[in-house]
Amino acid sequence: MVTKTKGVGDLFKEVIDKGLCAVCGACVGDCPYMVFYRGKIRMLDFCNRTEGHCYEYCPRTFTDMDAISDKIHGMPYIGDEIGTVRKVLMARAGDGKTRAKAQYGGTVSTLLSLALDNGLIDAAILSKNTDDKLPAGFVARSPVQVLEGAGSNYMAYPALETLNRMPRDSKDRLGIVVTPCQAIALAKMKVSPPSQRVNMDNVRLSIGLFCTWALAYDRFYEFIKNNVSPAKIKKFDIPPPPANRFDFYIGKEVKSFSLDEIRKYRMSTCAYCLDMTAEFTDISVGSVEGIEGWNTVLVRTQRGMDIIDDAQKKGKLEIKELPAQNLVHLKEAALIKKARAVQAIVEKTGDRNNLIYLGISDKLREKLLAHRVTPQGGH
Ligand SMILES: Cc1cc2nc3c(=O)[nH]c(=O)nc-3n(C[C@H](O)[C@H](O)[C@H](O)COP(=O)(O)OP(=O)(O)OC[C@H]3O[C@@H](n4cnc5c(N)ncnc54)[C@H](O)[C@@H]3O)c2cc1C
Repeated sequence: MVTKTKGVGDLFKEVIDKGLCAVCGACVGDCPYMVFYRGKIRMLDFCNRTEGHCYEYCPRTFTDMDAISDKIHGMPYIGDEIGTVRKVLMARAGDGKTRAKAQYGGTVSTLLSLALDNGLIDAAILSKNTDDKLPAGFVARSPVQVLEGAGSNYMAYPALETLNRMPRDSKDRLGIVVTPCQAIALAKMKVSPPSQRVNMDNVRLSIGLFCTWALAYDRFYEFIKNNVSPAKIKKFDIPPPPANRFDFYIGKEVKSFSLDEIRKYRMSTCAYCLDMTAEFTDISVGSVEGIEGWNTVLVRTQRGMDIIDDAQKKGKLEIKELPAQNLVHLKEAALIKKARAVQAIVEKTGDRNNLIYLGISDKLREKLLAHRVTPQGGH
């Protein structure tokens, strides 16, 4: 049992009204009442059910980390910095067109295109920018469509709504790109699959994005409207530390803002998130500090190993060893995120035995509470 299941009223009381909602979308599309509107999860009409998937799958209701780890990795939660990993490497797309369109090395887009080509999946659930540069879920069925979704939009959006809205009788084998909170919700859906909705066995490939925090859709959109004209934005970027910048690519120009200013638009829930590297996915992908145009790649499952091997064999990805120093930095950053999260949760509850949603061991909690953290920095 992953969560003590309650209903939508409890979801609002314990998560949404407390600023803990990550807008992952696990509660949307599964019932007629819940919608994502203007950056928030809202209830269209009163629902008095006392049990619901909306509560059960939420990444901010009680989550037994051992149970989800067992489902995804076949072992209890290891609780180290970056989670269960079979292989660490650095990669980029072999194809220049993908690299040009992608956020960094184009590893995510390349793997999805390959998975469509080699028959691992029939469709991929991704995000694509609207004309207003808001992220929106869509289903890509070809490598051309995968490239339409390339690039990062740093605003949180309900990726799992798109999954929930797949036709109930669909036989499509699916790939999905998720941030860490979305990966936790997806893992909870796999542990206790919805009987009335999409068949979770059809989700054949999950690619996780590293994430230190995401921006609040509604508030950050106001910032964009007031400071940059949304329609002209070609790309968003947060260059790795020590840059401390948020860049908007507008035509050939780059308009930069201090990351300190942009951090004001973070989702409040990110302060309580333990996971920086999307630990419950097949493969996790991020940037490489100091090496432009490449991705750090953590291969976590056998399925992940198989597709990486295929990509290398077919020349779809260039693969190199990640420099040891980069792995050290990644682990430091991931550990800091964990320690900050547990310390923020205990500060919020005032009780070290109440970690709100986090089902971790007492030993790990004490280790993270004892870890000294620097003021919030980086991304
Ligand atoms: C909110 C957010 C925070 C991030 N924080 C970090 C960080 O702290 N450190 C780090 O190293 N990397 C971070 N990343 C990941 C990084 O920006 C790249 O997405 C990643 O390195 C993959 O690069 P790529 O060139 O392979 O991506 P691409 O091949 O360009 O593919 C990117 C994929 O991400 C999907 N996507 C875009 N926006 C979103 C979104 N909002 N939610 C879910 N999926 C989306 C796209 O549909 C596309 O499929 C973050 C990404 C996001 C969305």
